[in-house]
Amino acid sequence: MLISTGIPTKEDLGRVMPPVQRLAKGPVAMAECFQKIPCNPCAASCPVNAIHIGEDINECPTIDFDLCTGCGTCLTKCPGLAIFIIDESRGDTTALVRLPFEYLPLPEAGQYAMCLDRAGKELGWFKVARVIRGNSRNLTHTICVEVPRELSMEVRNIREGSYRNG
Ligand code: SF4
Ligand code: SF4
Repeated sequence: MLISTGIPTKEDLGRVMPPVQRLAKGPVAMAECFQKIPCNPCAASCPVNAIHIGEDINECPTIDFDLCTGCGTCLTKCPGLAIFIIDESRGDTTALVRLPFEYLPLPEAGQYAMCLDRAGKELGWFKVARVIRGNSRNLTHTICVEVPRELSMEVRNIREGSYRNG
């Protein structure tokens, strides 16, 4: 399914998902990178060397979730927009999902954005907690959305321009 649709299966995701205990401790990266391609900016940019690709640059990255601080550097460097930062440590029924975004217009913090799953299916209007604009060195923006915790492994995009206040 991944090869024909580009959408990972539950089994694919199970191989790269941080453990539940780690997710509850604070923000952590999840690399949804399943194709063997010559690419390594994620590993090269990680300040704590938490991402490993190995000697063959075609291998898919693996993340040491205990080392990862959830800083998000790798997310902004990934040309495949394949890295997400998940935070389930808020102590309530919500989670934060930080995702890469390369469209305009950007939403504003406090607005609600239509959130989508990996296949583009609408999951609901959820609050934009933070917007980090790209800059001249890195054009990738990042959007942080506050979602119901049960959707932290589902929300992976927002629909560009579908923003509303409240
Ligand atoms: S979020 Fe930060 S610490 Fe974690 S893997 Fe990415 S760059 Fe490394
Ligand atoms: S930078 Fe992105 S596309 Fe490249 S290996 Fe890392 S996760 Fe995969």
